[in-house]
Amino acid sequence: MAYGSDKLEKVIGFIGLGAMGKPMAENFLKAGYELNVFDVSALVMEKWKRTSANLCKNVTEVAEKSDIIFSSLPNGKIVQSIMEGEQGVLASCKTGAVIVDLSSVAPETSESLCQKAGEKGVCYLDSPVSGGVTGAQKGTLTLMVGGDREAYEAVLPELNCIGKNIFYIGKSGSGDAMKIVNNLLLGCNMAALAEALILGEKCGLDLKTMKEIISISSGRSYVSEAKLENFIMPESYDGGFAISLQHKDLSLALEAGKAVTMPLPMTSMAAQIYELAKAEGLSRKDISALVKMWSEHTLK
Ligand code: NAD
Repeated sequence: MAYGSDKLEKVIGFIGLGAMGKPMAENFLKAGYELNVFDVSALVMEKWKRTSANLCKNVTEVAEKSDIIFSSLPNGKIVQSIMEGEQGVLASCKTGAVIVDLSSVAPETSESLCQKAGEKGVCYLDSPVSGGVTGAQKGTLTLMVGGDREAYEAVLPELNCIGKNIFYIGKSGSGDAMKIVNNLLLGCNMAALAEALILGEKCGLDLKTMKEIISISSGRSYVSEAKLENFIMPESYDGGFAISLQHKDLSLALEAGKAVTMPLPMTSMAAQIYELAKAEGLSRKDISALVKMWSEHTLK
């Protein structure tokens, strides 16, 4: 791909079509792009048969046929596994291609892949996202991009298909660092909200009253706005942002803290709370399921 070539002439590849990847990839189709897709799950791929996307048999095929390759995968280990190796994206994509990893991973993972990509004449950007499944569906995500600025500018029209607030942060891995900072706050805020609500219930307050007061008082936060009405009040914790992913993000923050000798006591405590939720079988539930967990522990 020549930088600056016409938007719709670029062919998009998308690897990982889960809760976030599916709606993001769909937005490229809606915008009129030719799209090559792959997900390791046969069930997920089956659903794409009804679309105009080209269904690829593996990541190699996506890489060979695309100018810009997006990935949205559960963790850094999986990102590395699809990027590296003889059949991996790095070895298979065209010279001049741009890879944009949208997953939340450690900065070191992106830095290392960016370096390896550079050796093959390929650009690698880390671009973790924030805004959840709803933001992915609406194309209003926040994107935090690290890596080569020229490559970032070249793919900006495509980033605009999936995001509304798009930030170039700096060198490779800096997008990941920004995402870690954001999700440290998200995880701690949710853990605090869950504790507060159960304490309130034990003190005889009803949820509706707490929601009303918190929403106009100093205790409000993104989680009180996004989670109370949609998950906690209906006691329905499916979809949303998984406990296991939040736990991963807090673990990434703890690793980052260790690397720079920065104690993170709040993060450490929150990570243990999500660890407990995982042990209780809530891994795939939304992070607000911490409320369910504490209510089962303390309100019997
Ligand atoms: P998900 O588990 O729903 O989707 C991941 C997809 O990747 C699945 O469909 C899975 O089958 C596929 N996959 C796994 N291994 C693969 C492989 N080797 N090759 C191809 N496909 C493979 O996860 P998600 O919620 O969509 O999250 C994706 C990333 O986005 C994560 O890094 C997460 O931390 C981040 N994120 C998620 C949210 C959210 O609200 N869910 C918000 C912001 C960021």
